[in-house]
Amino acid sequence: MFDIVIVGAGTAGMTAAIYGRRAGKNVLLLEEGIYGGQIVNTPEVENYPGIQNIAGFQFAMNLYEQATGLGAELETGKVIDIQKQSPEASSQSFFRVQTEEAIFEGRTVILATGAKNRKLGLEQEEALTGKGVSYCAACDGAFYKDKSVAVVGGGNTALGDAEYLSNICKQVFLIHRREEFRGDAGLAEQLEKKENVILIRNAVVTELVGTDCLEQIRLEDVRTKETKRLTIDGLFVAVGQTPENQVFRNLVQLDEGGYVVAGEDCRTHTAGVFVAGDCRTKSVRQLTTAAADGAVAALAAVDYLNAGK
Ligand code: NAP
Repeated sequence: MFDIVIVGAGTAGMTAAIYGRRAGKNVLLLEEGIYGGQIVNTPEVENYPGIQNIAGFQFAMNLYEQATGLGAELETGKVIDIQKQSPEASSQSFFRVQTEEAIFEGRTVILATGAKNRKLGLEQEEALTGKGVSYCAACDGAFYKDKSVAVVGGGNTALGDAEYLSNICKQVFLIHRREEFRGDAGLAEQLEKKENVILIRNAVVTELVGTDCLEQIRLEDVRTKETKRLTIDGLFVAVGQTPENQVFRNLVQLDEGGYVVAGEDCRTHTAGVFVAGDCRTKSVRQLTTAAADGAVAALAAVDYLNAGK
């Protein structure tokens, strides 16, 4: 029986593990893939207080070493169900956390499942993924050395990806569906000054062209409806994330977007279940807020455990 079972070993989950361990609780981190979460895909992090510049992958490695160094256990497994168990009115309830291969028990649960890359929803998208279509510039950028690529999206991920790729590729097109970028204005201005970056505003990708690999994309101007084809070697899709919390819908309340409903105290409507990071209802989803949530959720779980609820 663990004191705290954390679902998801991204920034929020691993921060929660650090705080849980430092409070003397035994902690299990459950991760369905590779630890680290979304930040692993960010080439450079330059807005985490106290760290001027760090590769996202390195940041995740440091967190992992810190959490496991403090004694948090990590198991790989996709969580398929969590059931609250209330044996007797007098004794403390606990949770059975079921993965595809095993069942774990925890007195409390912290959901820190983050969010997954949103797709464009185009016909050839799945078939061409890994064949010219990518969702991770940090992972796949090197394959496009001295080639022409496009990034689609207008948030900080797209801007950061375009910046990263502009140092590797011959030409980078940044395609955004509006005039104003959602991401940091300073970063957009920086990109505008780069000779090998072309910003294409008010346009959407409507077609992926290619059989064995991506050869062209079709763009539509959202104002004039005019279309044109762009010949590129790679397309990096950076159009945001969506949560994957449906498996928890009977355990906690989800909002219409599928995020777990909780306030800044990270407490869900279910006693003993806490939520941290991008999978929670919130307005700002940053590395710093994920880390902050991890701390808040873990300390709330510690309070709950110490109160013997
Ligand atoms: P995001 O901020 O949600 O931006 C998604 C972008 O994709 C928006 O510009 C959106 O356009 C566009 N988009 C959505 N669906 C689209 C579609 N079907 N076709 C074309 N464009 C589409 O997502 P994000 O950039 O991945 O960032 C997620 C969060 O992580 C943000 O809070 C961001 O600031 C944060 N982040 C932080 C760091 C860091 O701390 N270093 C790095 C990266 C990201 P509209 O603007 O028109 O809606």
